[in-house]
Amino acid sequence: MQETGIGGCMDLKTLQTLILISPFLNALIGGVIGQARGRTTAGLFFGFFLGPVGWILIWLGPDKNTMECPYCKERIKKNAIVCKYCRKAILLP
Ligand SMILES: [Zn+2]
Repeated sequence: MQETGIGGCMDLKTLQTLILISPFLNALIGGVIGQARGRTTAGLFFGFFLGPVGWILIWLGPDKNTMECPYCKERIKKNAIVCKYCRKAILLP
């Protein structure tokens, strides 16, 4: 890169690049969070459009991978037949 002598010029460009790619970074992080909740696509969208707010929304949102044990209220895998915490059999709906 050619040094122009105006120090602020490069910093501005770096900032612009960061702003430009940050929705994609946010989408990526949102996707990772979403994946843990079984909602990768939703995570990507929320992260892209809302950034950190979207991550929180995806994190607080419904988890498609897990459900709450009716006995001990711990989060267990959705297709579990026995709770790994209290060892009770889960009656599937
Ligand atoms: Zn349980």
